[in-house]
Amino acid sequence: MAEDTASAVFGVEGLRVFDAEREADGSLTVWVVTDHPDAARCPQCQAPAGRVHEHVLTRPRDLSRGLDGVSVAWCKRRWKCEQPGCGRKTFTESLPAVPPRCRLTSRLRELAGAEVAERGCTVAEAARFHGISWPVAHRAFCERADPVLARLPAPVAHLGIDEHRRGRPRWRIEEETGEYVLLADRWHTCFSGVSGDQGLLGQVEGRTADDAAYWLAQMPAAWRDAVEVVAIDMCTIYASAVRRMLPDATLAVDLFHVVQLAVKMTGDVRRRVVRRRYGRRGRSGDPEYGIKSLLARDLEHLTPGQFAKVMNTLGGSRHGQEILAAWIGKEKLRDALNLRARVTGSAPCQRNVRDRLFLFYDWCARNDDIPELLTLARTISRWENDIVAAVLTGVSNAKSEALNRIAKLEARQAYSFRNPANQRRRVRTACTRGTRRPAPQAARRQSRSVTRRKHDPG
Ligand SMILES: [Zn+2]
Repeated sequence: MAEDTASAVFGVEGLRVFDAEREADGSLTVWVVTDHPDAARCPQCQAPAGRVHEHVLTRPRDLSRGLDGVSVAWCKRRWKCEQPGCGRKTFTESLPAVPPRCRLTSRLRELAGAEVAERGCTVAEAARFHGISWPVAHRAFCERADPVLARLPAPVAHLGIDEHRRGRPRWRIEEETGEYVLLADRWHTCFSGVSGDQGLLGQVEGRTADDAAYWLAQMPAAWRDAVEVVAIDMCTIYASAVRRMLPDATLAVDLFHVVQLAVKMTGDVRRRVVRRRYGRRGRSGDPEYGIKSLLARDLEHLTPGQFAKVMNTLGGSRHGQEILAAWIGKEKLRDALNLRARVTGSAPCQRNVRDRLFLFYDWCARNDDIPELLTLARTISRWENDIVAAVLTGVSNAKSEALNRIAKLEARQAYSFRNPANQRRRVRTACTRGTRRPAPQAARRQSRSVTRRKHDPG
């Protein structure tokens, strides 16, 4: 059906514009009437109505036009259903775009929902901007997000599991027993596809082995079978959950956390030695203090001058040599981790990795007067198979950590969440937004005249 130009520009199907008024405050009032063949059908018996009962004026809320508000004045008819046997006496016209009893157009609802889901607005912000209430904006967002999130994620070969601190825990006191009942956990366990671009696959409240296993158990067996490598931090809880639910998958420890542990060990030794030597904590002016950031850096990133500075500072004294031994221990561990293909450019061999780890253990054993080094060696030997697997497969948990950043950002924008279910929905929507973006080159559609008029403004 051809529309007149004003109705086509207004763009709500079934509404015909017959007047427009500029109000004193700059807003626009658009006067419309119903122009839809099915609007006069009785909602109960579906028969076309015969007689107009009365005329009513409604003002459904609609999109603004640029920065100016638009108010819609819709002159509706209330019809009389004259069908014998139909219980409905009268009914007002309604359209798919403005369903019965709806105080806003569905395109406004959809926009508010899309702004939260796709543009990263908070619900409160979207509601405020469109002049609707928080519950309405939230419901619009849920209607948009839930069907997408309910879809089963495609199988992933490399799964990442990580914890995320969601906010403060909340408790309730049980009336009868007086016991505390946990309403909202401090933690979320997040599952992400570290290969592929599916983003966050799911979350579960809490961070115990049972919590993680619960989520894995909900996935179909075929999905679980497809997981080959699981990347985790050095965390025994998730390791046990993976062994329980994914017995065939290889565990890989995220190597960033292994190096982080070694760097922390070097710092611990330095602080202990400095305290023993001076009887106080280190401060600027101490030779050990001047190289503390160099000790945390990777060896290959030191210039010859910086390397010489470290050696000259630490090589001279007994105290310095203890720090030096810890630093060398860290670098020997990194030597083993640096065999991964991303660094060397060639596939690593398991024998080589274990040999280099042996050199690290050997170094630790020869410096067994440094307790921090022994503790590190014990930790590494406990996780040795998972570290070797990470070097061989090159799988890291970096993507999970990146998603954690988005999750934190979402929580900050919302000024933290009280409701963990809402938080999971918002975070998962944010962490899968990239996968929903349309392809860059959309095919150009053929233009089609809706007003059946030649383009001659004169
Ligand atoms: Zn009827």
